Amino acid sequence: MGWADMAVEVVTTIAEVRQRTDAVRRHGGTVGLIPTMGYLHDGHVSLFERSVAERSFTVATVFVNPLQFAPTEDLAAYPRDPDGDIALADAAGVDVMFMPSADEMYPRPVLTTVSVADISTTMEGASRPTHFAGVATVVAKLFAIVGPCRAYFGEKDYQQVAVVRRMASDLSLPVEVVACPTLREPDGLARSSRNVHLTADERAVAPVLHRALQLGASLIRDGETDANVVRTRMSAMIDQALGGELDYVEVADPDTLQTQVRCGPHSRLFGAIRFGRARLIDNVGVTR
Ligand code: AMP
Repeated sequence: MGWADMAVEVVTTIAEVRQRTDAVRRHGGTVGLIPTMGYLHDGHVSLFERSVAERSFTVATVFVNPLQFAPTEDLAAYPRDPDGDIALADAAGVDVMFMPSADEMYPRPVLTTVSVADISTTMEGASRPTHFAGVATVVAKLFAIVGPCRAYFGEKDYQQVAVVRRMASDLSLPVEVVACPTLREPDGLARSSRNVHLTADERAVAPVLHRALQLGASLIRDGETDANVVRTRMSAMIDQALGGELDYVEVADPDTLQTQVRCGPHSRLFGAIRFGRARLIDNVGVTR
């Protein structure tokens, strides 16, 4: 099937996106936005479907944003499949796929960036110090390009949703940020474009990340209030399965993203593990 047979329209320029979304709103319609880095899977599709159900017009973006990768990270190796992405978005009912080049998004060296203090500094922010400024900057641009809309993000990247939500609120951007649940493989591994980089052996042990977070959640539900005990039990489980590949496990406040000494009435458990080519993250919420 060629693009001509598809309902989704693929556009590559900022001007075309603006023109489409302005026209939708002018005619009384509502816009949904789902920013992605492509190599789409069921997790992305669940965000598309939510927008298609709730909004009259859905824009998905595919852009591997160089600003959010450190020089040592996997920008060049990030998996890409534009034709597969277009087919999946089409099947999910997406109206416009915005697939800009890096030149379209950043025609000149970037002098203006957006950074969100405090909630950007822990966990993913500690492991990847420039990451969230890159994310906040590209998402601010996408919000400016698409205009008033509801934007859908996955809780798989929980800290990212918190950063984006705070950025939109602090800058009075006319965007409602919606967090959607994490889609998982049957063994609990969170769906991720980066899973394609796992070797068979790594794939076999990777679900230990989610199992450790579930262990932490059950300890807290059973009355454990010392966050250090919870962290130690989670990291022991991961170390036993993987050896030295743990990056971090944390117990943090779900709103401030600051790590907790004592588990609160609400806590969020976070973890990251490093394999040869893939770095995986996950998180779960717990209420006691
Ligand atoms: P990415 O392409 O990895 O930047 O992800 C684009 C969006 O899809 C982000 O809001 C992610 O949080 C979300 N996403 C990625 N994986 C999943 C998943 N397994 N379940 C739900 N949402 C996801």
